[in-house]
Amino acid sequence: MQKFDYAIVGAGLAGASAVKGIRKEDQEGSILLVGREEQFPYNRPPLSKDLLLGDKTVEEIKIEDEGYYAEQGVELQLGTEITEIDPDSNLLTDDRGKNYEYGKLLVATGGSPRKLDIPGGRLDAVNYYRQLGDYKSLRERLDRATKAVVIGGGFIGSEITAGLIMNDIEVSVVFPEDFLLQRVLPEELAPIVQRDYRDHGAKVIPGDKPTRISKGPDGLDVKTEQGKLLHGDLVVAGIGISPEDELAKDAGLKVYDGVEVDECLKTSDPDIYAAGDNAYFPFSALGESLRVEHWDNAKSQGELAGENMAGAGKTYDYVPYFFSDLFDFGFEAVGDLNSRLDNFMDWKEKGKTGVGYYLSKDGKVRGVLLVGVWGAKGDARDLVKSEESFSREDLVGMIG
Ligand SMILES: Cc1cc2nc3c(=O)[nH]c(=O)nc-3n(C[C@H](O)[C@H](O)[C@H](O)COP(=O)(O)OP(=O)(O)OC[C@H]3O[C@@H](n4cnc5c(N)ncnc54)[C@H](O)[C@@H]3O)c2cc1C
Repeated sequence: MQKFDYAIVGAGLAGASAVKGIRKEDQEGSILLVGREEQFPYNRPPLSKDLLLGDKTVEEIKIEDEGYYAEQGVELQLGTEITEIDPDSNLLTDDRGKNYEYGKLLVATGGSPRKLDIPGGRLDAVNYYRQLGDYKSLRERLDRATKAVVIGGGFIGSEITAGLIMNDIEVSVVFPEDFLLQRVLPEELAPIVQRDYRDHGAKVIPGDKPTRISKGPDGLDVKTEQGKLLHGDLVVAGIGISPEDELAKDAGLKVYDGVEVDECLKTSDPDIYAAGDNAYFPFSALGESLRVEHWDNAKSQGELAGENMAGAGKTYDYVPYFFSDLFDFGFEAVGDLNSRLDNFMDWKEKGKTGVGYYLSKDGKVRGVLLVGVWGAKGDARDLVKSEESFSREDLVGMIG
């Protein structure tokens, strides 16, 4: 049986970043990195942006060059799934029945797309957009496609809609809320973004959801609750992800909407850490535990978990940022973008650029959204970390 000082399950961003963290503290220890996908670790954000728009190639989205892992002395097992963790004897089992012994383990298993629980929701032709393979299958069909149905009005649905329209596809996007991104955008901004989508030719269908998907002679038919029949050569669904925490749960680790970790990203087992989309962690600036499904969080948590696996004992008190591009709008954000919080826009140019604030009842800044305002993430972070209470008037003009 192979023995490793460090094992990492999940070769996504958090897993790959953990290698860097481990090597900061320990240049010698043996490292195993196991990933279910066949690909070398890659960044997912370009799947719905640069790749779709032809601004990057598949080769360019790799997190590290292929040679990096060998240079770092990492045993990389791709196309391999870990099926069991035995925390009593520090053992992993993979899908071929092979065992590995670990000293410290990182569970960086990310998340998997939620599926539509409706007839036809599990048809292969419905693309639940998460992996490079999903991009490739969309790309293969793009040349022959003229129409698409996108299900879901969150970031993935909105980005895919924009990307497909820029590829000259006619897109209907259907979602239950009144506005695209309604759960996150300030209430003043959401209608403006929706208008921008319509101006770019998107057929935006709010307040509705699919009830049945069926295969037609040339593509898929999507029936909706409000009685619409939408047709697409392509159907892409982005209705959120669930944390991949079954492996941890089966191992007896504490799990609550993800793998529970402390401020050092350690799970309920002293030899096991978790990081990235699957980690339910204490977000110190917000004073509560939650899960974050963003690139910068996965990267920073993965790296810090790696350092801590090698004995650094650091606290995760970083405030990660988020980014997205939707047609004419470029967003960066920090903190809690929950549109149910008191929120407003401090416009720099009405309807185009400005700063969105999300406030708690006692006037603390929970989240900041920068719309076309660049270089201000640090100021936004400081506000989210601050214990001070602010009025709307105090905040106007503070950033940007
Ligand atoms: C299309 C798309 C666009 C995005 N755009 C943005 C954006 O603009 N901005 C932003 O901030 N974030 C964005 N994100 C989110 C960001 O990519 C994620 O937060 C990040 O990838 C999370 O990294 P992770 O390593 O935690 O998980 P993942 O990237 O999900 O990686 C986990 C890996 O573990 C593997 N795995 C799971 N279980 C096992 C097992 N048992 N054995 C072996 N391997 C296993 C999985 O196959 C996967 O490869 C986007 C995501 C997608 C899908």
